Amino acid sequence: VAGATPNANRVVRVHNADRLVHGLRLAAATPLPLLRQVADALVGEMCAGLEEEGGSDQLKMLPSYVENLPTGDEEGLFYAVDLGGTNFRVLRLHLGGKGQVLSQESKEIAIPRELMVGTGKDLFDFIANTLATFVDTEDILLDSKSNKHREAGFAFSFPVRQTSVKSGNVIQWTKGFKIDDAIGKDIVKQFQDAISRSGHDVEISALVNDTVGTLAGGRYNFQEETMIGCILGTGTNACYVERADAVKKWKEALPKSGEMVINLEWGNFRSPWLPRTFADDEVDKESVNPGDQWFEKMVSGMYLGEIVRHMLLRLAEEATLFGDTVPEKLREQQSLETKHVSKIHADISSELQTVATVLHEVLRIHDTTLEQRRIVHSLCDMVGQRGGRLAAAGLYGILKKIGRAGPNKNGFALSRQKKTTVVAMDGGLYEHHHPYRKYMEDALQELVGTNGPYEVFLRLQNDGSGIGAALLAASHSRHRQTE
Ligand code: BGC
Ligand code: MG
Repeated sequence: VAGATPNANRVVRVHNADRLVHGLRLAAATPLPLLRQVADALVGEMCAGLEEEGGSDQLKMLPSYVENLPTGDEEGLFYAVDLGGTNFRVLRLHLGGKGQVLSQESKEIAIPRELMVGTGKDLFDFIANTLATFVDTEDILLDSKSNKHREAGFAFSFPVRQTSVKSGNVIQWTKGFKIDDAIGKDIVKQFQDAISRSGHDVEISALVNDTVGTLAGGRYNFQEETMIGCILGTGTNACYVERADAVKKWKEALPKSGEMVINLEWGNFRSPWLPRTFADDEVDKESVNPGDQWFEKMVSGMYLGEIVRHMLLRLAEEATLFGDTVPEKLREQQSLETKHVSKIHADISSELQTVATVLHEVLRIHDTTLEQRRIVHSLCDMVGQRGGRLAAAGLYGILKKIGRAGPNKNGFALSRQKKTTVVAMDGGLYEHHHPYRKYMEDALQELVGTNGPYEVFLRLQNDGSGIGAALLAASHSRHRQTE
């Protein structure tokens, strides 16, 4: 009997863990009807946000001032600077017209952590100097070689209230950035001043959100049906092509194209329909922007690892999942990154060997049992599934708003020709986290339906934001010359 005690304990323990996991699974569930509610709530906020400034306290619905998306006629040498999540990129694009890219070079560097929470001057000096060094490596022969004036697009992946296609004020920071002295000021001016300090002659001729860059790149590469740009990476967001006259809060002359690209800033979407758990509250509390970006904190790459870590911590504390002591690493913020969740999620081997390796190497949890590994795997699956399916609900909402999805009242196809929409996608989560991507694509397919009059294609627009920013710098520049 004495020998049976440890065993009995073990059974009780696993049972508790299972019950906790089961509770989480219920809380985080995303059945189709719930996704439809989420999409409808998003559409409601989109409409409110277009109506008047601040009409929605969640979705900023920011006009991009981009009226003309690239057509393929763009020609010349253009630069782009892409400041987004974890990395910073500079890019050189030589465009030959007729949709031809003659050459493309880029350089990517990680942003030192202290610059993410420092001063605007330090951050912009750093990126201006990187740009300057990159411009100096230019060896393309242009007629204008002697003239060192260059133009660049600036993909800036944070909420900005634009005042023109090349100016705008930072509204707030996200994704771990917090540079208070830069808020409310013109971001292009701050950058342009830093470029002057570097002694180079580069003019920022387009300021674009990364979603807008991705949409622009999608138009250039794919087709006119590209109506949405979406990022699933460190952060998440989407933009789309709206009828300009539907943007009620727009006080300036309506653009000739009759269209306006709108940046939702959907990361800040919030709704009672969002299936939140205690772990989401913990992640929010520990973030640099508590109370903000709830949708982003459930969907995007910066947070998936943290959500799973909080779930594991609770399982360790309340169900002694990893034995009598709680593994120290579980208390350490950011110890489990999304790339690890992705690795665990993708492990489909019967022994879950990769899960064991990640637990061992990353969380210093050694000699795990298969049952423990199964629980860890199922949490990663649950969190990835929820994120992917919520992202799909967001896209479905936008599609409904522009009349490219939704219930077909007649119950039959309007015409034999299906109405096609392309969504240009970018971001590491979409590109590399395959189970997440599959959940998202399947859910979108389920929501849109396969028998109705609509079809939707998601296309990876690699380096979308940077290339798109360079293209928009080009189309803006060409526009100016012909005026
Ligand atoms: C920012 C958006 C951006 C998205 C994806 C969010 O945190 O607020 O502006 O588009 O991340 O990078
Ligand atoms: Mg990017």
